[in-house]
Amino acid sequence: MKVLLLDQATFPRRKVCGCCLNRHTLSALAAAGLGDLPAKFGAVPLHSTLLAAGGRTAAVRLPGGVSVSREAFDAALMDVARAAGVTVRTGVRVRMTAPHTLTAGDDVIRARVVIDATGLNGRLTDSDIEVRPGSRIGAGTVITTDHAFYQPGTIYMATGRGGYVGLVRLEDGRLDAAAAFDAGFVRDAGSLPTAAERTLHEAGLPLPELHAADWKGTPPLTRRPTSVAGPGWFAVGDAAGYVEPFTGEGMAWAIAGAVALAPIAARAVERWDDSLAAEWVAVHRSIVGRRQAVCRLTARVLRSPLACRMLVRGLRVLPGLANPFVRALNRPTSSPGI
Ligand SMILES: Cc1cc2nc3c(=O)[nH]c(=O)nc-3n(C[C@H](O)[C@H](O)[C@H](O)COP(=O)(O)OP(=O)(O)OC[C@H]3O[C@@H](n4cnc5c(N)ncnc54)[C@H](O)[C@@H]3O)c2cc1C
Repeated sequence: MKVLLLDQATFPRRKVCGCCLNRHTLSALAAAGLGDLPAKFGAVPLHSTLLAAGGRTAAVRLPGGVSVSREAFDAALMDVARAAGVTVRTGVRVRMTAPHTLTAGDDVIRARVVIDATGLNGRLTDSDIEVRPGSRIGAGTVITTDHAFYQPGTIYMATGRGGYVGLVRLEDGRLDAAAAFDAGFVRDAGSLPTAAERTLHEAGLPLPELHAADWKGTPPLTRRPTSVAGPGWFAVGDAAGYVEPFTGEGMAWAIAGAVALAPIAARAVERWDDSLAAEWVAVHRSIVGRRQAVCRLTARVLRSPLACRMLVRGLRVLPGLANPFVRALNRPTSSPGI
């Protein structure tokens, strides 16, 4: 098929992200024939998460997964698309102005099918976005530091009153920091790095040099559009709804969603039929919606600092407590597309 990939950003772009691909993400990549991709860019194998709350830590073993910078991962995905014959145009902002019609400045592009993968900030279609009241905002940076505490292969997760910060070493040795905060907590702290430092301090993790770093924020995270499909279009990834990243699964939802959407989109290219939109709504709900509900519930329970401290204490005594949860997060999607 003739595929045109348009992005308003030029690459490498800055993306606030925890940069961890769990086993679910890796199995979704493998289902797309891209199982060998992470090894090509030297992704760092992950073996554990160190959860920190109230000055105590507990280690949770991970069944696999890797960390990788978004610069390297996004570039690798773009290369794969180009090699498969996709035409890539960056620095182009588009809007869907009528069914099967995209407008970019004075250019009008007709497409048999439009896939809206415009992320959290995207406004490709006229679908309204419902933002969950009290939703946290995201923040992130990547720093160069030789701080000895932060070792490759471990995700360091600091939880506190105003949110949480995850830190992980990337393939080039830099340290990625990604966070979700209550907006009021950031306002009181005065800046994103101060909010991050307060959270690390409260959790009892050492402070790397976060203050000099260039931080980027996001809009409120937990949201969903009123629809994930309409005449001639389907939404996937964050554009189809997102839940704050406590479980670090956004890329899994996006990639597993894309793999499941591909056969439906292929039928739509042959002939559009409104039942295809209804089919995608149902498939999306079953493969992504349920997992997002678990993430939403987890994030809600762990909003309480007391719950976080009790969890860490429990895990120190019984580390196996986390196993069923970790297994569920990492389980591959079973759907017609995968
Ligand atoms: C704090 C934080 C930590 C996270 N940690 C993790 C993690 O560890 N693991 C994980 O799996 N996920 C994580 N995520 C989630 C993950 O980053 C996203 O779920 C994932 O990047 C979604 O991919 P996407 O392709 O849907 O959107 P994006 O990666 O946001 O891409 C959307 C693209 O659309 C383009 N665009 C937008 N509007 C237009 C337009 N009108 N015209 C043209 N182009 C447009 C943008 O330029 C952008 O490049 C985290 C997210 C946050 C906020």
